[in-house]
Amino acid sequence: MRSFVFNGQPSRVVFGAGSLAHLEREVQHLGAKRALVLCTPEQLPLAEVIAQRLGAHAAGIYPKAVMHVPVETANAAIEEARRVNADCALAVGGGSTTGLGKAIALQSGMPILAIPTTYAGSEMTPIWGMTENGLKKTGRDPRVLPRTVIYDPELTVSLPAGLTITSGMNAIAHAAEGLYAQDSNPVMDLMAEEGIRALASALPKLRANPADIDARGDALYGAWLCGSVLGNVGMALHHKLCHTLGGTLNLPHAEAHTVVLPHAIAFNAAAAPQAMQKISRALQGAPAALGLYHLAKDNGAPTALRDLGMTAADVDRVAQIAIQNPYWNPRPIVPEALPALRELLQRAWEGAPPVE
Ligand code: NAD
Repeated sequence: MRSFVFNGQPSRVVFGAGSLAHLEREVQHLGAKRALVLCTPEQLPLAEVIAQRLGAHAAGIYPKAVMHVPVETANAAIEEARRVNADCALAVGGGSTTGLGKAIALQSGMPILAIPTTYAGSEMTPIWGMTENGLKKTGRDPRVLPRTVIYDPELTVSLPAGLTITSGMNAIAHAAEGLYAQDSNPVMDLMAEEGIRALASALPKLRANPADIDARGDALYGAWLCGSVLGNVGMALHHKLCHTLGGTLNLPHAEAHTVVLPHAIAFNAAAAPQAMQKISRALQGAPAALGLYHLAKDNGAPTALRDLGMTAADVDRVAQIAIQNPYWNPRPIVPEALPALRELLQRAWEGAPPVE
C-alpha cells in the first residue's frame, strides 16, 4: 500500500427522492434564520417554491445566477445578501448557481445550503471561480464548501435530455482524472470508480426515459461521488484544456468536457494503466477512452468541438496555451508533447474517435 494523505471534507448530505421535504429541518440544522435563495432566471419557479416553503426563514430570492460567476453578478449578490440581512446562501440549481453562493460565502463566511439540479459537482468542492474582464480566476477556500447538500433526484427530472448526458460526462471527467491524480488515495479511487459506474449505467436509461427516477437517483449519487473526487484531489490535462475552451473560447461547459474527455484519457492511457483499468471496470469492460467516447456518442451527446463553435484555427491556439504554464499530468506536458496535444485537439475538433 502506497503512502497517502486523506483530507475528509466536512459536509452533510441528505440524499433521496423527495428529500426536499427536509428543507426546513436542514435550514434549522444550520442555525439559519434568513436564507437568500439563489437561482438562474430559468429556475425561478423552483426557487419560488423553496422560498414559499421556508416562509419567514426566506430572506428573498436572487434569480440572476449565470455561467462562470461574473464579478459584477457576484458583487450584486453580495450586496443583496447584506441588504436583506441574510445569514445563509441557499443555492438551488447547477454549478453556476452554486458558484454564486460560493462568491457570497467567500466574502461573508455565511454557510451555503446547496440543492444541486445538475451533475456538475461544485457542491462537493471548496473551489470557487469568478470571471473578470473575460478571465476566470479560481481558488480554494474551505469557507465556500457547502455545509449541507440536499440531493433530490426528483428535481433533476426536468434537466433537458442533452444536458443530462453532457452533465453526467462532466461528472465522470472529475472521477476519471482523479484516478490518476498525483495526490490521490485509495478511498478517492473507490469513490471515483463507483461514481463512473453509477453514471455510466444511469445515462443510457435516462436517454430512454428522462423521468426514470431510479436512474435519476443513480446519476445524482454518481455525481456526488465524482464531485467529491474533484473536491479532494488535483486535476490534470483534461480539466486544463476545458478551462481554456470555456474561459478563452467561451464554449459551453458540460459539452466541452464531454467532447474532450475520451481524447484526454487516450492521451494519458499509457502513462496511467491502473486508472485505465478502473475506468474500464466501471464501464463494464469497455476500453477506457473508447468506452467514454461511445457512452457520449451513443446517447446523443456532441462529439466534435467544431459543433460547439470552435474554429480550425483555434486548435493550434489551444494547444499552445495547454503547453504553457506547465502543470502535473501523468504524461508530462513538455514542449515535445505539442504535436501529440495538437493531434488530440484536432481529433476532438473533428469528432473522430480517440486514439491511444
Ligand atoms: P449551469 O449551472 O450553468 O446550468 C445550465 C442551465 O441548466 C441553466 O440554465 C440552469 O438553470 C439549467 N438547469 C439546471 N438544472 C436544471 C434542471 N434540473 N432542470 C432544468 N434546467 C436546469 O450548468 P452546470 O454545468 O451545472 O455548471 C457549470 C458551471 O459550474 C461552470 O461555470 C463551471 O465552471 C462550474 N463548476 C464549478 C465547479 C467547482 O468546483 N467550483 C465544479 C463544476 C462546475
